[in-house]
Amino acid sequence: MLRDFFVGFIKIHILYHASKNPIYGVEMMRELKRHGYEVGPGTMYPTLHALEKQGYLKSKEAVVRGKVRKYYEATAKGRKMLEKSREKIRELVDEVIDDK
Ligand SMILES: [Zn+2]
Repeated sequence: MLRDFFVGFIKIHILYHASKNPIYGVEMMRELKRHGYEVGPGTMYPTLHALEKQGYLKSKEAVVRGKVRKYYEATAKGRKMLEKSREKIRELVDEVIDDK
């Protein structure tokens, strides 16, 4: 239930970081934890795969210390969605936080 409620926040957070630098799953789980979201691999990887399948992220593999790691970056479509999300967040903050 809680996860259902915050899944959009998690996706926006992923898109935001993937628009700045290529990210990978473990790194993103740590980042979300810093923000108070407990997201395990059973949620993170399917979310990354879904965002890639929908065209918001693209992945590339790199070998890091002998292991293959998958990095994700926001696509043009992903950046557009992030911009739309920003407008929605602004509107939501105006009402829910600032009570306008
Ligand atoms: Zn963050």
